[in-house]
Amino acid sequence: MTFPIVRHRRLRQSAAIRGMVRETVLTVDDFVQPIFVAYGSGIKKEISSMPGVFHFSLDNLEEEVKEIVELGIPAVLLFGIPESKDSVGSSAFAENGIVQEATRKIKSLYPDLLVIADTCLCEFTDHGHCGMVHTFERDGHVCGDVMNDESLGLLVRTAVSQAKAGADIIAPSNMMDGFVQAIRAGLDENGVSHVPIMSYSVKYASAFYGPFREAADSAPQFGDRKTYQMDPANAREALREAESDVLEGADMLMVKPALAFMDILRMLRDQFDLPLVAYNVSGEYSMVKAAARQGWINERAIVTEMLLGMKRAGADIIITYFAKDAARWLREGK
Ligand SMILES: [Zn+2]
Repeated sequence: MTFPIVRHRRLRQSAAIRGMVRETVLTVDDFVQPIFVAYGSGIKKEISSMPGVFHFSLDNLEEEVKEIVELGIPAVLLFGIPESKDSVGSSAFAENGIVQEATRKIKSLYPDLLVIADTCLCEFTDHGHCGMVHTFERDGHVCGDVMNDESLGLLVRTAVSQAKAGADIIAPSNMMDGFVQAIRAGLDENGVSHVPIMSYSVKYASAFYGPFREAADSAPQFGDRKTYQMDPANAREALREAESDVLEGADMLMVKPALAFMDILRMLRDQFDLPLVAYNVSGEYSMVKAAARQGWINERAIVTEMLLGMKRAGADIIITYFAKDAARWLREGK
């Protein structure tokens, strides 16, 4: 007995049919555009390793935010570069901190644009770690341990001050044990219980963050983040991290980075019902930009394929430095 040839190509013969049977569609509602806000005035400074991404001072923020709103992008993720740093990251939770001020400014200009506040200390600490550290000397080198439980209180203060400044979503990114529970309780006790938590549940200790550390001036001054971020070799551990965040009250789960961790996105999608966020990180952006500048790749086609892959893998939301470009391309494509 012979089988007939299965005619897969019947469904690919025209653009109209391909459109009807397409399983995954990108829309502008999928995207979050990160923004870096810096102290000073008149600043719009391009980050050298991330062409097209800038540091903005508060007075120059309006132009960027206006463009984002006009493109229909629903949300921004704010990172702050403070004026001064100290061992506990005080300016992360200062009432007039850079993220708090930027949040107030954006919400006053565009109340409907969602502001997601990254809640961490590493941009604000002089040692560049995501929490308080206990330092000591070993063999003539400065070493340090990040103190988990002592850091939670500072993260809670940061989250509460961001929410009170008007942040719509709190996104804690430090991977301390118990951080979601602590921040949830802090928000609830301080009159901002309506603010959801987008947890960086599964954050790998990744080389793909390199350009961001230039952008946020947050490279650790000693040691690395491997005691609190995950080993890229591990997948089951991602389920344990995500499960504890769900139990602690996270409203959304995130996988970061995205490109080398598509299987993790898929695992979390299959295992949990919460909205899932993929963070298309700085290194993933810079590689594409560099190759595109050389004329080695078609940037639009590559980026579209990457973002589509993240969505197909299970992401509902994609944080990406390409958000403005992708929104423009979607508009042009119609
Ligand atoms: Zn951090």
